[in-house]
Amino acid sequence: MLQTMTDRHRRQKLLPWLREDAQQRIYDSTVLIARVGGLGGPLTQSLAMAGVGRIVFYHDGDLLDEDLHRMVLMDPDGVGSPRAPQARASLERRSFPGARIQGFETRITKTDAERWMREADVAIGAAPTYEERLMLNDAALAAGKPFVDAAMYDDECHLLCVHPQRGACLRCLVPEPPEWRADFPVVAAVSAAIGSLAAYQVLRILAGTDEAVPWGELVRLDVAETVMKKTRLAPRPGCPACAARRVRHA
Ligand SMILES: [Zn+2]
Repeated sequence: MLQTMTDRHRRQKLLPWLREDAQQRIYDSTVLIARVGGLGGPLTQSLAMAGVGRIVFYHDGDLLDEDLHRMVLMDPDGVGSPRAPQARASLERRSFPGARIQGFETRITKTDAERWMREADVAIGAAPTYEERLMLNDAALAAGKPFVDAAMYDDECHLLCVHPQRGACLRCLVPEPPEWRADFPVVAAVSAAIGSLAAYQVLRILAGTDEAVPWGELVRLDVAETVMKKTRLAPRPGCPACAARRVRHA
């Protein structure tokens, strides 16, 4: 258990939902996240700064100069080097003393997701591919844990918080991974916006003060129009991820 050795988090503990007990739960928590790039980078940075005790992430590939316009955890001197160690070093500098950061230089696999969800309190999808995000969705529900999914394209963002026991999941919405465009349009102001919104929901979940979390609702943020809308999703009959959840909680 991490101890409150400093008052680094004093100002955030002024929030009514984030008192001492809630902060302690955040210190004691573990999150699993796929990708710490343009969206996952600011998301994970917010979690580290807020005092999350253990962050496990997966992010493959070497840093390109063209990554630096959006990937806040990367080092401009690290172009040509693997991205995961740079992100880990950046998160360690920002973390609460005693926090553990584990970064893997590969893309997450089904085995990884299932293994870590035995320990993690929340799974977080911040990857551009549906393969990775659906893998986390399935592993989280099979383990009886919540899953927070965030994504963006151009000026539009989406956020979905999947409850461990009820409501629709990401696979209800997207049964199989569609084709996607790797070279998608992105500006950091948009990817960081949805990353921050997702980080807030993760903190509410970890704090145990999740009454306001929009479970099972698809949150759409149109940054160009400055409009945010929520739509409650209907669980899809026959969804295998929801079926696994029902078996677990039967
Ligand atoms: Zn489902």
